[in-house]
Amino acid sequence: MKEVKHVFLDLDRTLWDFEKNSQAALEQLYSDLSLKDILPSFEQFLKEYKEINARYWELYGLGKVSKENLRIGRFLDTLASFQVYSAEIAEKLASGYVSISPYQTNLFPGTKEALNELKSMNLNLSIITNGFKEVQFIKLNNSGLMHFFDEILCSEDIGINKPNVEIFHAALERNKVKKEQSIMVGDDFKADIIGATRAGIRSVLFDYHKQFEERQEIERITLLTELPSKIVGL
Ligand SMILES: [Mg+2]
Repeated sequence: MKEVKHVFLDLDRTLWDFEKNSQAALEQLYSDLSLKDILPSFEQFLKEYKEINARYWELYGLGKVSKENLRIGRFLDTLASFQVYSAEIAEKLASGYVSISPYQTNLFPGTKEALNELKSMNLNLSIITNGFKEVQFIKLNNSGLMHFFDEILCSEDIGINKPNVEIFHAALERNKVKKEQSIMVGDDFKADIIGATRAGIRSVLFDYHKQFEERQEIERITLLTELPSKIVGL
């Protein structure tokens, strides 16, 4: 770990188990809004929502839809795929989702253990996330992660998303650290790994679901508890 002083981490799907937390929030809303009366099943609703939500996030990342459009459009479209056309239910889902999901606290196994170990190695830690500021702070506080981090950089703070190199440059500047002294850890190959690489920052891919092939040029872990020794070996 020659010269490593700082570790940048992504939040969603890297530390905070986004899928598990998202599903818990949607299950609660499905029940609270009695959606079983108008939709075939929770499983089908969830499957449809996931695909539509992923498309909206992709478009948001490209600057093709607004934050408001993403917030409501993903639910309007999900309902419409079951021939339910209701702006009222979509709005209840949209506002309910944003207020319930950030309070969920499922983390990936070994998250706190790994972060504690990195701190004990005298590494400074900070977050770089494309998520919305108002929800990312709730997630960090509620899941007991906030105290690990010196800085939380949300892409909307500077109006630039990962994988754009400028967000990594901003993170280096804010944390007063050089790119050679930093490591980026994240689950998204394009946003986290390609982005960091372009900015000259070494990276570690968190591949919990083992979706990526082993490739020599990519540093990869499948459990967060592997991270400290991975960094030592870099
Ligand atoms: Mg992520």
